[in-house]
Amino acid sequence: MSGIRPTGFLHLGNYFGAIRNYVRMQEEFECFFMVADLHSLTTHPDTKELKSNVHRVLAENIACGLDPDKAAFYCQSHVYETSELYLHLNMLAYKGELEKTVTFKEKARQHPQNINAGLLTYPVLQAADILIHRASLVPVGKDQEQHLEMARTFANRFNHRYGDVFPEPMAFNYSQELVKVPSLDGTGKMSKSENQMATLYLADSDEMIRKKVMKAKTDSGPTTPGAEKPDYITNIFLLLRLVSTPDVLGKFESDYDNCSIRYGDLKKQLAEDMVNFIGPIREKVNAIMNDENYLKAVMEKGAAKARESSRATMALVREAVGLNYF
Ligand code: AMP
Repeated sequence: MSGIRPTGFLHLGNYFGAIRNYVRMQEEFECFFMVADLHSLTTHPDTKELKSNVHRVLAENIACGLDPDKAAFYCQSHVYETSELYLHLNMLAYKGELEKTVTFKEKARQHPQNINAGLLTYPVLQAADILIHRASLVPVGKDQEQHLEMARTFANRFNHRYGDVFPEPMAFNYSQELVKVPSLDGTGKMSKSENQMATLYLADSDEMIRKKVMKAKTDSGPTTPGAEKPDYITNIFLLLRLVSTPDVLGKFESDYDNCSIRYGDLKKQLAEDMVNFIGPIREKVNAIMNDENYLKAVMEKGAAKARESSRATMALVREAVGLNYF
């Protein structure tokens, strides 16, 4: 089970941190993937763009290979049972631990005029989204590690107090480490909202991709063989590893090691490999976005599957909590 907020264009971080795993997992597991529209209201209360953003997230995931016939692909707001579980879990979440959450502190800093209770209890709603399907594997990027730990805490508290209902959800990635796709300016991660020139979006035109990659921070190159890479250079190599062939990566690694690297050539190669990676996805997204009937059918089908699983969980929860005296 996993979700993505419809708060803007998806980027390479979403792809490598999340969607790439969804596409593999749908072949092996019973999967629930969700557009987290309610979560987006914690920071984006204006809903004028919500519908088109929801459509975009659906189309972008499908263009990346998510198959709505294999996985349940649905909107968070279409599954009412989640709100009920959220209420129960709120009773098991403590104000102090919520206030200490890194993402809460970050978002409170970004939106000082709107530090609402929904923002504070964001990890509780996220836990409800996961636990409503009694999911055990949650494909997310590294930025979500702390939220996952909180979801485990809430699940364990519930089980301890009311009896075993929930498995412990674990962050999941096919590689050993959770992925963090760095931004192109050498600081932080690619993200939907912060520093758009340092983030590569799946909707970026070929020209825009080239422009952004060529602006990535570099320096005059190493002067001693085998020198350690500064962070911003490590980041460029990390991006190269994601989209270029092993041969290309190997060539630039050895150029770096023997101090003959030309960052201009490296960035040109990276830009072309990015264009070849993102271009076909962008074209597919545009075709899917134009087919509203198809997107509606996807949402209906996904919601039906997600509701069935949620209803079964809530029956167990009500029974366990002791709301069975009627
Ligand atoms: P969000 O864009 O915050 O709704 O996140 C959706 C998913 O993308 C989550 O699983 C995140 O962990 C993942 N994600 C977002 N940004 C990055 C990034 N720069 N690197 C890796 N994963 C990311």
